[in-house]
Amino acid sequence: MSATKMPSDAVKQITYLAAALKAPRILEAATRLAEQARDAGWTHEDYLAAVLEREVSARNASGAELRIRAAGFGSRKTLEDFDWDAQPAIRQQVGALASGGFLTEARNVVLLGPPGTGKTHLATALGIVAARHGQRVLFATATDWVTRLSDAHRHGQLPAELAKLRRYGLIIVDEVGYLPFEQDAANLFFQLVSSRYEHASLILTSNLPFSAWGGVFGDQAVAAAMIDRIVHHADVFTLKGASYRLRGRGIDSLPSVRTQEPAN
Ligand code: ADP
Ligand code: MG
Repeated sequence: MSATKMPSDAVKQITYLAAALKAPRILEAATRLAEQARDAGWTHEDYLAAVLEREVSARNASGAELRIRAAGFGSRKTLEDFDWDAQPAIRQQVGALASGGFLTEARNVVLLGPPGTGKTHLATALGIVAARHGQRVLFATATDWVTRLSDAHRHGQLPAELAKLRRYGLIIVDEVGYLPFEQDAANLFFQLVSSRYEHASLILTSNLPFSAWGGVFGDQAVAAAMIDRIVHHADVFTLKGASYRLRGRGIDSLPSVRTQEPAN
């Protein structure tokens, strides 16, 4: 449309220059906004700013999208999707994390609570917040992290792996406590926590209170040292209530699913 109204030499040159800058949306925005700029009497500066703004915001969005896809989330869940009526007590504090300030301060987040209360949902949502704030994110279960660290250790690559992981602004460890760790695994996990301490953020979720982590890690001393580092700079949230998965099904809690077989 407007391309015809722009001097064609200039359009050709913009085409060439936008390609050289690897900024295809500059070309698109330059032609599309030119007519609007003439009609509305924008200054040259207004027009240039509007064109560059399109490129920058598209880059930010596609960067965030790439980081979200690379993070390995099980499913895409956001803070906007979360029904706060189910967890009113933590609404304000978790909502405040959306500013991303916890990432620049290398603070951690711990989400505790029974199954189905939204721990993985909120961990994922905060991961998406981080990706949108320009941080690289990795999401995996505790078991997967231990496998990854064990593999690195076996190949003599643990320090290199930990150094690589430190370049991620956020690492999410889902489901601490679903499976108990071997002693070796507990030590590897401790090294992950130590290497990020006061340097980059961790989010952990667990269905067990901290007091039960000694059993998970097979060693009270390792668990205590680890929890100490995790919570020193952390927001700890305890989610409450019945499983969101079972809402509206007349089932109050998970164990009753098994014991109330005939109930309808
Ligand atoms: P947990 O990790 O605590 O076991 P999840 O986060 O996996 O629980 O939640 C189970 C399911 O219920 C998911 O599909 C999640 O999106 C949904 N869910 C849980 N809590 C809420 C909530 N308050 N609002 C919206 N969806 C929720
Ligand atoms: Mg979960």
